[in-house]
Amino acid sequence: MSSSAIVPHVVDTRGRPLHDIRFSVTDRCNFRCVYCMPKEVFGRDYAFMPREELLSFEEITRLAAIAATHGVEKIRLTGGEPLLRKGLPELIAMLSELRTPAGTALDLAITTNGSALARLAPALKDAGLKRVTVSLDSLDDETFQAMNDVKFPVQKILDGLDAAHAAGLGPIKINMVVKKGHNDKDIVAMARHFKDTPFTLRFIEYMDVGTTNGWQLGEVVPSAEVVARINAEMPLEEIEPNYSGETSQRWRYRDGGGEIGVISSVTQSFCHTCSRARISVDGKLYTCLFASSGHDLRALMRDGCSDDELSAAMAQIWRDRTDRYSELRSLNTQRPTTGPSTGAKRIEMSYIGG
Ligand code: SAM
Ligand code: SF4
Ligand code: SF4
Repeated sequence: MSSSAIVPHVVDTRGRPLHDIRFSVTDRCNFRCVYCMPKEVFGRDYAFMPREELLSFEEITRLAAIAATHGVEKIRLTGGEPLLRKGLPELIAMLSELRTPAGTALDLAITTNGSALARLAPALKDAGLKRVTVSLDSLDDETFQAMNDVKFPVQKILDGLDAAHAAGLGPIKINMVVKKGHNDKDIVAMARHFKDTPFTLRFIEYMDVGTTNGWQLGEVVPSAEVVARINAEMPLEEIEPNYSGETSQRWRYRDGGGEIGVISSVTQSFCHTCSRARISVDGKLYTCLFASSGHDLRALMRDGCSDDELSAAMAQIWRDRTDRYSELRSLNTQRPTTGPSTGAKRIEMSYIGG
């Protein structure tokens, strides 16, 4: 029997294994992206989580270690802006010590807005970080600054990307959230810029996550349209996913200039293979990005539960999982509508981790 065959993967009610976990390490951010933390809501008076409410590095590492015993192989740190969390390299060093039951290191990555990467990339690499994903919505300063809403210039993100590449934090992915009427005019320019480079650009459909961004279906640019626009100028062909459960559909340039990805969470849901759990900044486990409540693992830890008890709780939460929000939304969105998204109270992306 191979060593990986003995890893006890826990599966949910729909047969989906728990494969990766995202930790939101801070709910704070230095950007105010209009689709994520609109200024009107996340203003000067906004009450962010007090420090003592945040999971400590020890608590995060403890949860990650237990998750690894249930089959988790990928850990991603996100937020908010994860690079704002004080001492982040220390956490990365702690996580990089963890091993799966088969003895391999975990795939450790962060998703960042890139604003501090130029400064922090070498320290992150030294601490044991494997890869970064950087969000960048446009190469046009006016458009990018209107989207981040804090006048942050494009060039500093490009400098951060270069620093991450130089430090060896690859393969590096770039996430572009496409919002109709805001940055969809930049789709082809972004593709052209990152073609024939070591960076893989991924286009994300604007999602109805949280309740503050005023999402409208009419502002979503379907991935099929993104691919068609690029294909018209730089021919593409679809390629196989890297692994089952990959959220991004892959397309490569026919001339060998690399590949792009599209993440079609609105028009083509991928709930049937979703193997991701999210742990909020205050230690609640969410089994879906669109869940309205989480399971309080921090309370268990701070009440003194043992590793075995914590492990059993985590496994049971996953076994009970039934989520498939996007699948159900996709059924609804097949009817033409431009109205706002409705539904239960939902958690903001910055708190749960994108
Ligand atoms: N601050 C970091 C960043 O921007 O990369 C990490 C956190 S952010 C919430 C994680 C990812 O979620 C980013 O790539 C961001 O563009 C994406 N995102 C945020 N709001 C979104 C929305 N409404 N629809 C689709 N993607 C969204
Ligand atoms: Fe901050 Fe990332 Fe949200 Fe933008 S997408 S506001 S950078 S957390
Ligand atoms: Fe996974 Fe929920 Fe997204 Fe479906 S809607 S892919 S279950 S996070």
